[in-house]
Amino acid sequence: MNQMRDQFIRFMTGRYGADKLGRFLTAAAFVLFVAGLFIRNPLVDFIAVAVLILSYYRMFSRNIRKRFEENQKFERFCFKITETFRRLRFRFQQGMKFHIYKCPGCGQKIRVPRGKGKIKIHCPRCNTDFIKKS
Ligand SMILES: [Zn+2]
Repeated sequence: MNQMRDQFIRFMTGRYGADKLGRFLTAAAFVLFVAGLFIRNPLVDFIAVAVLILSYYRMFSRNIRKRFEENQKFERFCFKITETFRRLRFRFQQGMKFHIYKCPGCGQKIRVPRGKGKIKIHCPRCNTDFIKKS
């Protein structure tokens, strides 16, 4: 058992190994395999195998710098996605709590809390007052 482990460690020396992109690819291949059981489209199975081969290729690759760069790109992509969702959620929450009106005098956007009935809004930029339902 130990000998096998040593052999594996020797095999992996100088090779890239697992990273976030690798784990994502393995998970994606697994999801595709399961989906393929239901969809029964050979193309799905083919893509699943291709993704799995790609994940192993990256893991055993000796071009560590290239694989590292790929993972960096992937991490940046993930960050962009989560940032977009975070921003959308923030805007949605703001929309639940506040109403945004444009000042009829100067076009300045003014944020007003919702659910306060008819209120007089004072524009801080041009001092126009206007009445809106909040
Ligand atoms: Zn104004």
